Amino acid sequence: MSIITELTIDGRAVKGAGEAWSVVNPATGLAIVSVPEATPGQVDQAVKAALKAQPAWAALAPAERAKMLLALADRIEAAGADFAKLESQNCGKPYAKALADEIPAIVDCFRFFAGAARCMGGLAAGEYTPGFTSMLRRDPVGVVGSIAPWNYPLMMAAWKAAPALAAGNAIVLKPSEFTPLTALKLARLAAEVLPAGVFNVIAGRGASTGQALLDHPRIAMISLTGSIATGKKVLEAASRSIKRTHLELGGKAPVIVFDDADLAAVVEGVKVFGYYNAGQDCTAACRIYAGSKIYDKLVADLTGAVRAITYGAKAGEGADIGPLISERQRERVAGFVDRARAIKRMSVTTGGKAAAGQGFFYEPTVVAGADQGDEIVRQEVFGPVVSVTRFKDPDDAVAWANDSDYGLASSVWTNDGGKAIRVAAQLKYGCTWINSHFVLVSEMPHGGFKSSGYGKDLSMLGLEDYTVGRHVMFKHG
Ligand code: NAD
Repeated sequence: MSIITELTIDGRAVKGAGEAWSVVNPATGLAIVSVPEATPGQVDQAVKAALKAQPAWAALAPAERAKMLLALADRIEAAGADFAKLESQNCGKPYAKALADEIPAIVDCFRFFAGAARCMGGLAAGEYTPGFTSMLRRDPVGVVGSIAPWNYPLMMAAWKAAPALAAGNAIVLKPSEFTPLTALKLARLAAEVLPAGVFNVIAGRGASTGQALLDHPRIAMISLTGSIATGKKVLEAASRSIKRTHLELGGKAPVIVFDDADLAAVVEGVKVFGYYNAGQDCTAACRIYAGSKIYDKLVADLTGAVRAITYGAKAGEGADIGPLISERQRERVAGFVDRARAIKRMSVTTGGKAAAGQGFFYEPTVVAGADQGDEIVRQEVFGPVVSVTRFKDPDDAVAWANDSDYGLASSVWTNDGGKAIRVAAQLKYGCTWINSHFVLVSEMPHGGFKSSGYGKDLSMLGLEDYTVGRHVMFKHG
């Protein structure tokens, strides 16, 4: 399988004219390929191509846009094994998981938004004042600059591209400099089915190529999934030229486990949803609050379960999780665990260090005895690390869960349905799962409160985010 390193601008493959950046496989630490980044001049070309293509794209009937997006979904599906291999190589994640979990969700995202474009909702047209008929339109914003992170590179590209394109926008997408390979490949497939200029993909680092995109005066909207620090840069740039923004900025998901919960289900759930993708997931079930009666057994059973998580070269194809994205990220994760361990009250019951051997693996880790004020409870670790905190009063658990800068995802585990619903209603999170965690569907929104940002991905709400509501009023003769 040849690896595509060219940008796609105006439907054509173009070599980046900027500095080349080495893309590394984090499972081995070895370079895969070098990708030259887009210069500010090439960013400008991509934006101009999008500006040229967008009006005709928006003027197509939604059914026509849908047909093309469905064709793109089919091509992604047909190339699913190649995409999964490339994603696995570029992120180090297990191939089988990328193929089984990510590719179908990516294909479904394009299929969902293809259909959604034909079903836009809104107020009924009517005479809201005598002598006038009003109608609501939902028109595309224009050209969207989309910026994606490294944890699920192709899925994040799909989450950005599908709703924006379905709504009639043209886009310039910049994947993360760590993981550009699947987005560059997606752009070549898109060029075969979409009009030239509608879907441009440029590679490059944040401070150079990304910033040029943010600062481009003709970009109408910036959509970012990334860190809070980058979110602030988006807002600064947007404030200079009044752009729309759509921000998805991480999380620190609380997992409230009441004494009456099904312990085996909790342990199995956290083992999967706390460590999936090596915990590099903004919804990761990483911050457990356990009732005093269930706490000891939960820590013991979770420790045993987490010890059984497989990773690294020895685990081969069937590994549960992959490495962290970079040595720098591994050091960051290690720093959080080391600082927690230095506090006597806390104990690292399993894991707690970088794994031996090649690649940027870190041992799946449980930190017990954490308190609400501890860094490990408050900061996003973005690694295979779960903290456990004991609570006596259920009201404390809810208050602690909400006492966070983040507000993306949460879960409640109990056998009492009424309690689950009452607690879910009190949580200030974009999503609350009951007796589960992490399960996403294209029909329901994904997005946060507070520092987690405010854009919605997926669902009709996600589609609406890429449109402008407009009022057209007709005076009767
Ligand atoms: P990051 O902010 O470092 O990078 C994200 C993207 O922003 C990359 O493409 C990067 O090149 C770009 N970027 C960085 N500086 C820029 C600048 N000045 N101008 C323009 N673009 C710039 O984040 P990351 O490390 O790639 O991803 C991890 C973060 O993303 C975590 O905090 C995680 O929680 C968050 N995340 C959030 C969600 C969500 O849905 N809320 C999903 C996945 C990841």
